Amino acid sequence: MNTRSTLTHLECALTGTTYPADQLMNLAPESGKPLLTRYDLARAAQTLTKESLKTREPSLWRYEEVLPVRNREAILRLGEGWTPLHHAERLGAAIGCPNTFVKDEGVNVTGSFKARGLSMAVSRAYELGAKELAIPSAGNAAGAMSAYAAAAGLPAHVYMPADVPHVFQVECKELGAQVTLVDGLITDCGVKVQEGVKAHGWFDVSTLKEPYRVEGKKTMGYELAEQMGWTLPDVIIYPTGGGTGLIGMWKAFDEMEQMGLIDGQRPRMVTVQSDGCAPMVRAFEQGDEFAEPWQGAATVADGLRVPAAVGDFLILRALRESHGAAIAVSDDDMLHYAREMGRYTGVFPAPEGAATLVAQVKLLERGWIKPDETVVLFNTGSGLKYAHLW
Ligand SMILES: *Cc1c(COP(=O)(O)O)cnc(C)c1O
Repeated sequence: MNTRSTLTHLECALTGTTYPADQLMNLAPESGKPLLTRYDLARAAQTLTKESLKTREPSLWRYEEVLPVRNREAILRLGEGWTPLHHAERLGAAIGCPNTFVKDEGVNVTGSFKARGLSMAVSRAYELGAKELAIPSAGNAAGAMSAYAAAAGLPAHVYMPADVPHVFQVECKELGAQVTLVDGLITDCGVKVQEGVKAHGWFDVSTLKEPYRVEGKKTMGYELAEQMGWTLPDVIIYPTGGGTGLIGMWKAFDEMEQMGLIDGQRPRMVTVQSDGCAPMVRAFEQGDEFAEPWQGAATVADGLRVPAAVGDFLILRALRESHGAAIAVSDDDMLHYAREMGRYTGVFPAPEGAATLVAQVKLLERGWIKPDETVVLFNTGSGLKYAHLW
């Protein structure tokens, strides 16, 4: 049976060149930049309504009109999306910003929001006939990919930096993936994946090197609007590695406005990175369109150890269009504020999630966030996977 997908085509994010959607695609062939997915939003708006959503399934698949999978049988479901949005009243009181909310992505299957992107990318790759999947990853993405590949019954090849914490390696192996440890960074792992793509025809599901992970992650934007009664907060703070979620949410806001689900009021988007790997913060401050790779990337927040992002220009564009900010914080502060978030909310965050609280406190101090503003922190993963840090 067909889904209600209104998918029409793919479009190069840099040049606008269009491509057909129903074949396996990685980067745009002539520019080497990410492809974005486009829909017939006028048609989508006929059935994706505030009313119709009230009776839909509690997962990200509730937004199927604006998702790429066409065939219901291809959808791989393990429990992704429709995560809770907590009004963190005690935390807000403690830091002097009462309207503080935590979107808890740690409850996704495999313990992080990577499940959103990989459920979409693997479902779509499976639908389009991919035979074997491959990914370079510093942690959570590999676990999520391994889970969805297992659900589909597809072989999975994972390349990880050798110093990745044990828990991430074990998760992939036990889910049946072929795991190779690489002496280097995630960028070096990406090179290995490319070799496998050329030699064996694997399909590379690296973030933004295929069009659909960002479609999975954009559902955070839809959920946020729906959970806030079709309004958006003043500020969203997002721990940024490859930037997939930030780019995705910004895209979701555009789509929702075109469908008449929200008005034009947009949040200010804030990127937070570790001061041991902050290529986006540096590029934002320098006014650059693209980011230089960060040398010697090091942070305990594995999801933020991304020295170079293919979607750099899309992250920077969203930050600037939203009148947002970019801020680097220390690993020590992340670990300290993880405890604060835990004690005041009951959510045990990944260090990446704790980084958003550090950023909020600093931006409140600077007066960039006003005490009466509504702020959403994205806790992107569960602290349980990082128990070795404390
Ligand atoms: C991957 C990851 C991030 C960064 O996500 P992007 O959308 O790639 O920027 C943040 N937090 C955690 C826990 C992650 O696994």
